Parts: sequence; structure tokens; C-alpha cells
Amino acid sequence: MVAAKYARILLLLFTAILLAAWLFKYYVLPPDLDELEVPDGLHPIVAEKRDELTGRAARAGIPILITAGFRSIDEQNQLYNQGRTTPGKVVTNAKGGESFHNFGLAIDFALLDKNGEAIWDMEYDGNRNGRKDWDEVVEIAKEIGFESGADWEGEFKDYPHLQMDFGLTLRELQRGKKPPGIE
Ligand SMILES: [Zn+2]
Repeated sequence: MVAAKYARILLLLFTAILLAAWLFKYYVLPPDLDELEVPDGLHPIVAEKRDELTGRAARAGIPILITAGFRSIDEQNQLYNQGRTTPGKVVTNAKGGESFHNFGLAIDFALLDKNGEAIWDMEYDGNRNGRKDWDEVVEIAKEIGFESGADWEGEFKDYPHLQMDFGLTLRELQRGKKPPGIE
């Protein structure tokens, strides 16, 4: 009887330790990005919405160019290094695995001027309706369901950036949670 009691206590202890180890790994340790399964392209819904955005903007007289979509973790790290350890100016604060682009959930856009050149002029009013084309594009994007990097809290705003999080935080994505439709 005494042996059985000890066995039960040991089992309980063992279970508690396992649970604590799991909680620690999941919530305390930084995610292991090498083990992370990431997609190799844009989420199909995001790709569909990207096309919808491009189409609706064009119909409003605003041609746009999608300058970025899915970005691998390696590509993100290279971009992060730019202006820090490699030449160029700093364009992102996100390392590999820290951007929604790495999960296929973000795009960046630029306006196209009359010559078809990409511009990032936020005052530009190419369709001459008295409104800034940039604002019009962001407005359409939000109607479609994108979140704008222009609305980010803090000093670093990413104006060309549009993302769809499907209710998931970056941390959840880093922990391997998948948006709907992704195995
Ligand atoms: Zn972006």
C-alpha cells in the first residue's frame, strides 16, 4: 500500500514537471525559428485580396505596384542587415521570423506614376480627384480586410505595408499556429 501511494505521488510529480517544462518552452523560451515550418508563398486569401486591391485601385484611376509579398526568413535577415552590417539604409526593424511577410500574410505597395515608375510620394494625386492616391489605396485595402502599417503604434510606421493576421499574433505564428486554410 505504501509503495502504491509513493508511485502515485511520483506520477503526479512527473506529470507536473512535464507540464511545467512544456509551459516554459512554449511561453518563456524564444521560439526556435530553425524548426519553424513556414509557407513558401503568400497565403491564398492574401493573394486573392492583393489582386482585388490592385483591381479596385486601378478602377479608381490609381495604378499600383506590389513591391513585396512573401519573404523567406533568410531574405528577411538580409533585409534586416541592410543599413546595419551591410550597405544601404535601414528599411525594417524585423529580423527573420518577425515579419508577417515571413508567414505569407503581408504585401507592400507603391504607386505608379504616369510613366509607370514606382513612387512612394504620399502626396501624389494622379487621378486628380483632390485626394491623395496613397490614402485612397490604404482606404480600399482596409475595406478589403488589410491592416495598414501606417496605423502601427510607436515611431516606426511602415506606410507601404499591408497585412492580414487572421486573428493571430506574431508570437502565435512563431509558435507554429497556422492561419485558416494552411495545414
Ligand atoms: Zn511590409
